[in-house]
Amino acid sequence: MAITTIAIIGAGPVGLAAAAHALERGLSPIVLERGPSAGHAIQQWAHVPMFSPWAFNIDRAAERLLVTAGWTRPNADRYPTGGDLVSDYVAPLAEQTILRDHIRLNAELISVSRVGFDKVKSAGRATAPFLVRYRDGKAIAKLTADAVIDTSGTWFSPNPAGAGGIPATGESEASARISYGMPNALGEARWRYAGKRIAVLGGGHSAIGTLIALSQLQAATLSTEITWLYRGPILAKAFGGGAADQLAARGDLGLQVAELVRQGRIHALTGFQLDRIEPAEAGLRLVSDDARNQTVTVDELVVATGFRPDLSPLRELRVALDPALECPPSLAPLIDPNIHSCGTVRPHGAVELAHPEPGFYIAGMKSYGRAPTFLLATGHEQVRSIVAELAGDHAAARRVELVLPETGVCSSTPRGPSQAKTSCCGGPAPVSVDACCADDAKAKAAGETGCGCSPVQGENREAAEV
Ligand SMILES: Cc1cc2nc3c(=O)[nH]c(=O)nc-3n(C[C@H](O)[C@H](O)[C@H](O)COP(=O)(O)OP(=O)(O)OC[C@H]3O[C@@H](n4cnc5c(N)ncnc54)[C@H](O)[C@@H]3O)c2cc1C
Repeated sequence: MAITTIAIIGAGPVGLAAAAHALERGLSPIVLERGPSAGHAIQQWAHVPMFSPWAFNIDRAAERLLVTAGWTRPNADRYPTGGDLVSDYVAPLAEQTILRDHIRLNAELISVSRVGFDKVKSAGRATAPFLVRYRDGKAIAKLTADAVIDTSGTWFSPNPAGAGGIPATGESEASARISYGMPNALGEARWRYAGKRIAVLGGGHSAIGTLIALSQLQAATLSTEITWLYRGPILAKAFGGGAADQLAARGDLGLQVAELVRQGRIHALTGFQLDRIEPAEAGLRLVSDDARNQTVTVDELVVATGFRPDLSPLRELRVALDPALECPPSLAPLIDPNIHSCGTVRPHGAVELAHPEPGFYIAGMKSYGRAPTFLLATGHEQVRSIVAELAGDHAAARRVELVLPETGVCSSTPRGPSQAKTSCCGGPAPVSVDACCADDAKAKAAGETGCGCSPVQGENREAAEV
């Protein structure tokens, strides 16, 4: 079936890149964005410095459009904040190029299905157009399209605080004292945290970034108390690749937080399995369900336990997902933090991201499901390949046009920053090999189960939360 119109869900950087590639190939994209402007999710973490410099953050088709609109490329070596990413790239792309005629704002996806087909009906299914229903301001609207690319991200569906992936008992009742993701502790949320007792739950970059921001607040308001609640048994796992991370800013976060813990400015509790949240002493009592019965009383809780995809709008599509990660199954071995700790994911595209529903793809942050190591550069390569496939250029869809940096966090043994000198990955795995990195590919070719970078079960999963 010849593809003409593509519905793209979400005007984040990856959705806009998909639209730019579609226009270059003479296709007609329609981008639905739930927020009042493009980059709405990134605006929620506008204050956060990114760990990848501009060189890794700009899609090439998007750049070609921007250049025709007189845009000046930011310095490739500079590290933007989320706010810079929107003001210097996403907003000009959405507002100053021909993309603006293809974006519908305040348009929130409700559901995607096939016209006249529920999920069960097969005969003729592949040629039926997609039916996209969305909230258009206050009204309900619909459109049809030949293909759909869901690039709606995961920001608006954070994981809950409870250790078992479910809300802790009392979590919703305590919501006035809980923030999810990365609150702006040095900006608009300063009043909320200065001089307070704050717990940060999580082990990934969001948790570490928040801990570092709170420590800066603590330097100004000494009575600020910071407790780090870490689910895994070994805190050093959270410190990441340090000096071995090719994205130096990301490696540096781990080094900084390690030093703050060493100085005693951050009090860390390991093995903390949050079970319930109770009102206490003008604050919250956080109770862990672990052998030590750990309990901590705080004024505020920041939950930084990662994100999960919202799959509810996709209920009537034939979507194949890995049972653990909720990402396309063939992507799972490349990004599963249970079996591989590094973010050295080889570039991938239409083949790996295909679903049993022809013409439907999930790309960008959402394509990683619950896995945390997504990079924008990966998303740009994904949509370049997907759009090429939809346009019938199968050779371009299968070509790899991206080299990603290594994270340097790949290790089978817990280590501190001082040990983080080398990476075990050997770079991304070759294309068409079901392995997460070059060393993993070599080990599997030799009949072994993998490169041995597997961490203690469950431990690394937390270290890798976004
Ligand atoms: C704090 C933080 C820092 C990060 N730093 C880096 C970094 O340094 N380098 C890097 O490479 N990656 C980084 N990432 C990871 C990732 O690259 C970003 O999250 C990036 O924004 C993902 O782009 P996206 O387009 O896939 O999703 P998003 O940017 O999340 O965009 C999704 C869009 O879809 C919209 N949307 C959501 N639901 C709906 C709906 N139902 N209907 C319509 N629209 C909807 C949202 O409003 C949003 O505009 C970071 C992520 C976070 C959270």
